[in-house]
Amino acid sequence: MIQLSRITKSFGRHEVLKGIDLNVGKGEVVAILGPSGSGKTTLLRCINFLERPSGGTVAIGEAKADGKHPSKKDIRELRLKSAMVFQHYNLFRHKTALENVMEGLVIVRKIPKEKARAKSVEVLEKVGLGAKIDAYPSQLSGGQQQRVGIARALALEPEVILFDEPTSALDPELVGEVLEVIRRIAKEGITMVVVTHEMGFARDVANRVVFMDEGAVIEEGDPREIFAKPKQERTKQFLKRIT
Ligand code: ADP
Repeated sequence: MIQLSRITKSFGRHEVLKGIDLNVGKGEVVAILGPSGSGKTTLLRCINFLERPSGGTVAIGEAKADGKHPSKKDIRELRLKSAMVFQHYNLFRHKTALENVMEGLVIVRKIPKEKARAKSVEVLEKVGLGAKIDAYPSQLSGGQQQRVGIARALALEPEVILFDEPTSALDPELVGEVLEVIRRIAKEGITMVVVTHEMGFARDVANRVVFMDEGAVIEEGDPREIFAKPKQERTKQFLKRIT
């Protein structure tokens, strides 16, 4: 479903991604772990060209774009395949939950308003916010706001959902409700890539964990194996620090 091939990314002279290869199968849930600054978020953002790679290629399903010289059409097609859930939700403050979810459907996907509204209500109910569709972000808890963010991604019916540290801005008591929603969606078989610091979640929900350090994939595999018996010293050190 996702094929990243030799992805590089530099900011000025700082090489943040050093040639990443990563394949994600249909329905797979891949957790990306690693120390802060190792390039996890940059890699995720390269998948939908929120960040343009310096080199390599990105493919999602049939859509494919060259990192260095992508055409506008390639980027557009690639973006239609995925949706992103952001660390800080990125909701419009002056729009209700319903309007936030509808926005992408009406403006980007050009879906008629009534149809977009019906779809938006459906996904808001799915994330447990059926009673909050007319609430503004300021009237919602962080966990509820992030669930609006997840509903907005689901409404697009993407083939892939990219989660960028979806719970790291939340108060600890609100993390569980958001992870629960993600866990439920994962069971439905949608392909996911999740950058996370939640080791328990990665262990329970991911089919595969990818451990990054200094812009490279250091180790990847079955979460149970990697958590129990990491092969690489850097993975061991990271897991020792965090658990
Ligand atoms: P992680 O998600 O693993 O914490 P990031 O991908 O956020 O790592 O960042 C990797 C490195 O790239 C960091 O050193 C960060 O400072 C740098 N970086 C990220 N985005 C930018 C940017 N827009 N401009 C310059 N440097 C950036």
